[in-house]
Amino acid sequence: MPFSLPQSVTEALLRLNAHGFEAYLVGGCVRDMLMGIPPHDFDICTSALPEETMQCFADVRVIETGIKHGTVTVILHGEPLEITTFRTEGDYLDGRHPSSVAFTRSLENDLMRRDFTVNAMAYHPEKGLTDLYGGRQDIERKLLRCVGDPTERFTEDALRILRALRFAAQLGFEIDKATGDALHALRGRLSLISRERIAAELLRMLASPHAPQVLHLYGDVFLAALPDCTRFDIDALKKAPEGHTLLRTASLLHGDPNAQAVLKSLKLSTAFTEDSLMLIDAYDAKIEPREVPLWLAKMGKERFDALLLLREKQERQTLLKEVRRALDEHLPFSVRDLAINGRDLIAAGLPAGPHIGELLESLHKEVLMRKIPNDRDALLKRIKE
Ligand code: ATP
Ligand code: MG
Repeated sequence: MPFSLPQSVTEALLRLNAHGFEAYLVGGCVRDMLMGIPPHDFDICTSALPEETMQCFADVRVIETGIKHGTVTVILHGEPLEITTFRTEGDYLDGRHPSSVAFTRSLENDLMRRDFTVNAMAYHPEKGLTDLYGGRQDIERKLLRCVGDPTERFTEDALRILRALRFAAQLGFEIDKATGDALHALRGRLSLISRERIAAELLRMLASPHAPQVLHLYGDVFLAALPDCTRFDIDALKKAPEGHTLLRTASLLHGDPNAQAVLKSLKLSTAFTEDSLMLIDAYDAKIEPREVPLWLAKMGKERFDALLLLREKQERQTLLKEVRRALDEHLPFSVRDLAINGRDLIAAGLPAGPHIGELLESLHKEVLMRKIPNDRDALLKRIKE
């Protein structure tokens, strides 16, 4: 392995071994290490039952994360480690939940239920790599391939269909022919999956470096996950920065008149949905430099900054300069920051009513356009005009 393991990981593996149990690193961390990518976490699988694992770590903090599914989290030297008992999964009757989860003492059985060959390897610092399905070779060939028969695997659990696209987009792997054929053929089964799980995989996919290529080849699968979508723009997606989920989503959907329904159907946070819609709205807008303060007031600085990431360098620099200028001038970005308020207008003799709000809005606009300063006297004078 090109990586030395953190001490807490080695210690956890050896401690389980010392108690007579098998224990291995498994899944994403093994794949990433073989690819030369630093793993973001280390998952351990073991022959120990959850209670046995807890006994092995009786002297440290243990959290029963998902004990029904065999997972406990052990905090070793301040590092959380997920330790999961080897599992096999019973029949999938509904295409998304195994009808039973059984613990097993066999690593082979545990690896067999995993989705892709590159995700189905185990590693032990003394025993080396366990690679029953050619995962290492697939990494070398940059190939994403199901463990076992793709049709069966996607039928068992349709979420794997989107996981395939996500891993291909993340790793830059080609999808094996049989796996790819099954993706196209079984895409309709995505309707069995909850919107939340679809959204989580889709957004990770869109943020990944190779999402454009994947969408190009598997657009039909993408549309099966988002049946409300009427069009998506891969070229726009390409221009949005990698890793920026919001901009990638907004760019991809900006030309879809149905974008609002698409986003709603994903049941994302209100903030994410609103941010996306605002960016979609502004996507093609012509932004005049002198109107930057108006844009800042309308969108807020963070969203406007994000929007500028989608503009050509020269335009972006010009507009960023205007952002800095507007901030330096302490322009009032909200009506509430105006030097006068509704009560001042009424005191100046204007009749109360909805008209007051409109008047404040229009004063606000003039201040943002630098036609009048944000100054009490100047604003009152302007009203008298
Ligand atoms: P990441 O780097 O994104 O965390 P990962 O490979 O660790 O990648 P996870 O979603 O964290 O992916 O899942 C951990 C492991 O569990 C996978 O590597 C895979 O072996 C297995 N796995 C997860 N979800 C499924 C599934 N739906 N079907 C089969 N195996 C799965
Ligand atoms: Mg993981």
